[in-house]
Amino acid sequence: MPDTQLALTHPAAPAVRFEDFGLSPDILRALADQGYIHPTPIQAEAIPIVLQGCDVMGAAQTGTGKTAGFSLPIIQLLLAHASTSASPARHPVRALILTPTRELADQVADNVKAYSRHTPLRSTVVFGGVDMAPQTAALRSGVEIVIATPGRLLDHVQQKTLNLSQTQILVMDEADRMLDMGFLPDLQRIINMLPAQRQNLMFSATFSPEIKKLANSFLKNPVTIEVARSNATADNVTQVLYKVEEDAKHDAVAYIIRERGLKQVIVFSNTKIGASRLSRHLEKEGVKAAAIHGDKTQGERMAALEAFKQGTIEVLVATDVAARGLDIAELPCVINFDLPYNAEDYVHRVGRTGRAGASGDAISLFSDKDARLLTDIEKLIKHTISRLQLTGFVPQRSSDRRPRYEESSDRAASSRSSGNSSQYGRSAYAPRKEKIDPWFLKPYEPTVPAPQQDQNGASGQGGKPAKAKVAALLGGMPKR
Ligand code: AMP
Repeated sequence: MPDTQLALTHPAAPAVRFEDFGLSPDILRALADQGYIHPTPIQAEAIPIVLQGCDVMGAAQTGTGKTAGFSLPIIQLLLAHASTSASPARHPVRALILTPTRELADQVADNVKAYSRHTPLRSTVVFGGVDMAPQTAALRSGVEIVIATPGRLLDHVQQKTLNLSQTQILVMDEADRMLDMGFLPDLQRIINMLPAQRQNLMFSATFSPEIKKLANSFLKNPVTIEVARSNATADNVTQVLYKVEEDAKHDAVAYIIRERGLKQVIVFSNTKIGASRLSRHLEKEGVKAAAIHGDKTQGERMAALEAFKQGTIEVLVATDVAARGLDIAELPCVINFDLPYNAEDYVHRVGRTGRAGASGDAISLFSDKDARLLTDIEKLIKHTISRLQLTGFVPQRSSDRRPRYEESSDRAASSRSSGNSSQYGRSAYAPRKEKIDPWFLKPYEPTVPAPQQDQNGASGQGGKPAKAKVAALLGGMPKR
């Protein structure tokens, strides 16, 4: 369900209408089906520029309407080549949209399908962790627009089920997150497979030096589109900090939720184990909560998300990777149970609320040990966050709570186990390695074909768990 109302209450400018961009009636009809009337600011900026064939570097977060900002002009441009023929040869891949996670790939694919539904253009989504066969069948039947996560895309290229030689438009969505996840080698391989003559669009919520370096390496004279200052948190989000002892944080979250009567909130935890523990604690406190992180199965994650959207769950306790790219409308509040290790994640987290112009609250808990993280955050956002007293809060002892040292040792262990051996100059990402699954830091390795996997129950790489296990970590869902 699109958060139509949110965006509608904050149009780019009431006078701007989709009709003004010269989009085809088939696209306008699809927009009407969606209930979109006015373009959002990023759409108002991006659509005419992409239609002109320019490369774009877009600073925009999920929730701004950026997907339509690039999809609509792409569909319009590709309409010139649209064919009603059933022959796959008449439907070569002309646009490739890369996303970091399965969830985002799926969301983008749903949007592209909706916007192109009255046109003869075909689109499909490919991501890891699911059977390749249906994806192969869709690719073989011919599709103009492919939405993909990088690893699975390379699998298809390797197995010759995908030909990129006629790709004229490349989109890198959430490019910063793709770099964070160690996809740079894969991205470079993919770029090298594309025709030199093409249009490139890159979207990123933050602009680190590495992102700028990547942009310089493949964008040609890009037009920069910025709907909010990069690395800035939205003005309409009220940010506060409460100083709370480490072992009182669980109770503090429950207290804040009760005190404020919060009915829909995402609480961010830096660790998977921390997310599960907090969710259990909240349940015991009578708050309807669920954890969403990489150790949850696909089904559990989608069920939790759906329950949250429906309101049967009030609190989603999430890790950064799990929460990334989730399209949850009208989220009034986010809580940082832990301050993120990387200041840019603070911007991403806070961006979950106050979306499309609505107001929101971002509450963070911190203790003495977080001083450095807090300094980094405030330096990045160029703003001192208000420190408030959590008045009336009296921490209780909870039998569920394990001693803190156990949690920190979990994190230390995962930090120790995550190597950073890439030769792609990731030194600037040093803080990230604490919470990135080591799998993401590996360059692309082809997936062994499905029948072999079934037989051996392993990926064929020294009997190690198959890619499927890791892909489940990334989430996403089979097409409904
Ligand atoms: P995105 O940032 O692309 O993930 O979009 C955020 C949400 O806004 C999605 O649910 C879209 O369906 C919705 N949306 C995008 N453009 C518009 C628009 N012009 N009017 C209303 N809703 C929109």
